[in-house]
Amino acid sequence: MKRLICLVMVIMACAVTASSQQIASKTAGLQKIDGYFPIYWDEKNGKMWMEISRFNKEMLLQVSLPTGVGSNPIGLDRGQLGAGRVVYFERVGQKILMVQPNYRYRALSSNAAERKAVEDSFAKSVIWGFKAEADEAGRVLVDATAFFLRDAHGVADRLRQARQGSYRLDESRSAFYLPRTKGFPLNTEVEVTLTFASDGETGPLVRDVAPTANSITVREHFSFVELPDLGYKPRKFDPRSSSFDVEFYDYASPFNEPIEKHWIARHRLEKKDPNAAISEPIKPIVYYVDNGAPEQIRRALIEGASWWNQAYEAAGFKNAFQVKVLPEDADPMDVRYNVINWVHRSTRGWSYGSTITDPRTGEIIKGHVTLGSLRIRQDFMLGTGMIPSYAANGMADECEFAMMPDLEYLADTSEIEAMSIARIRQLSAHEVGHTIGFAHNYAASSYTTADQSWIIQLRWSR
Ligand SMILES: [Zn+2]
Repeated sequence: MKRLICLVMVIMACAVTASSQQIASKTAGLQKIDGYFPIYWDEKNGKMWMEISRFNKEMLLQVSLPTGVGSNPIGLDRGQLGAGRVVYFERVGQKILMVQPNYRYRALSSNAAERKAVEDSFAKSVIWGFKAEADEAGRVLVDATAFFLRDAHGVADRLRQARQGSYRLDESRSAFYLPRTKGFPLNTEVEVTLTFASDGETGPLVRDVAPTANSITVREHFSFVELPDLGYKPRKFDPRSSSFDVEFYDYASPFNEPIEKHWIARHRLEKKDPNAAISEPIKPIVYYVDNGAPEQIRRALIEGASWWNQAYEAAGFKNAFQVKVLPEDADPMDVRYNVINWVHRSTRGWSYGSTITDPRTGEIIKGHVTLGSLRIRQDFMLGTGMIPSYAANGMADECEFAMMPDLEYLADTSEIEAMSIARIRQLSAHEVGHTIGFAHNYAASSYTTADQSWIIQLRWSR
C-alpha cells in the first residue's frame, strides 16, 4: 500500500512538472521567430510552437493562398485572400480556446449588460482548441503544428466543387515553408506547403495545369494581426455613394428605427492639419505593384493606380495616395501591404479587387488587387483583328498572303500596343477602386464616365 501511495505521488509530481514547465526549457534549442506571437521552429520534429500571452484580446486571423493552381475555372489563384476572422484566446486551465466572436449581431450601447445580452443570444465559433504545454508568468506555449498544417483555405473543397476529383491533404508531402514564416511587432506570418492527393479520377482542368494531376501542391498562409486601434470613425453607408459596406444588426437601435446598420468600407485617412482645405495625411495610403510584373506592365500599373491621387486631392488630401513597386524582401501576403498582383493562369479570367476589412468598423486594413496577365494579350489580339493587317505596309495583297502567311505580323501594331497598355492602366485604376471601397456605380455612369463617377463617390465618402 505504501509503495502504491509513493507511486501515485511520483506520478502527481510528474504531472505538476509537465504543466508548470518553463517555456525557456521547453523551447531550448529551437529556432525562435520573435514578433506579435513568438513562434518556435522545432526542426528535428517538424513542429511549430506558438507562445500565447494575449488572452481575451481580439486580433485578426487571415488565411490566404500565396501560390495558385493556375486554372481560371478552378478559381484557386496565386495571392487569393481567404477567410478573415476576428478571434481571441480564452484560457480554461490547460486548454486554450481560439474564439471567434459574432459581429453580425451587436448592441451599440454604453450599457455593458445590454451588450452582453446580445452577445449571449447568438452563437460564437470556437475555431481551435490548443493545450498548454508550458506555462510561465501568464504566457503559455502550445503546439500549433496541426493548426497550421491543414487546409484552412479550402483547396480540397474547391477542387471537389469544380469536379476535378476527390483530394485529401497528404501530411507526408506537406511541411512548413520557412522563407515566408516571419514575425513582426504587430503581425506574425506563417506559411505551409500542402500537397493534395487523389487516388481516384482527376479532372481535365487539373490535368491541364499540374505536372502530376493526382498530386497538387500549393502553399497556404496564416496572418495573425493586431487589429487597428479604435481611433477610426465609422461612416454611415449612403446608397448613393455605392460603397462596399459592413452590415450588422444593432439590437440597441430604437425600435422605431431600422435594426440593420451599414457602415462603408474605406481606408483610414486623417489630415495632418484638420483645418486646412488641402492637407497632407498623417499616414498616406500606399499601394505596392507586383515586382514580378514585366517592366512595361509595371509602369502601366503604377500610372493607372496613381490616378486615384487626383481623387484624393479633390477630397482635400495631398500626396495621400501613393503607388510603389513592392520591395524585393516584402511578402505580398503580409497584411501590412496593399498590393496590385499580376497573376498568371492557363486561360484568361477575371481580374478583381478584394480587401481585408475590420468587421467591427469597416476600416480597410489591406487592399488586394488580382490582375489576370492574359488580358493584355487578348486585348492585343482584339486590336489586331480590328485593323487591316497588310494595307498599312502595302506589303501584300491577298494572293501574296496566301503564299506567305508570315507576313501577318508585318503590320504596324504600335497603336494596338498603345491601346493594350492603356487598358492595363484603366484596369489597374478600376480594380484599385474596388479595394478602396467602391462597388460599380451604375447610376452615376449614366451621367458621366465611370472613372469620373468614382471620383464623385470618393468625395462623398470622405
Ligand atoms: Zn469591377
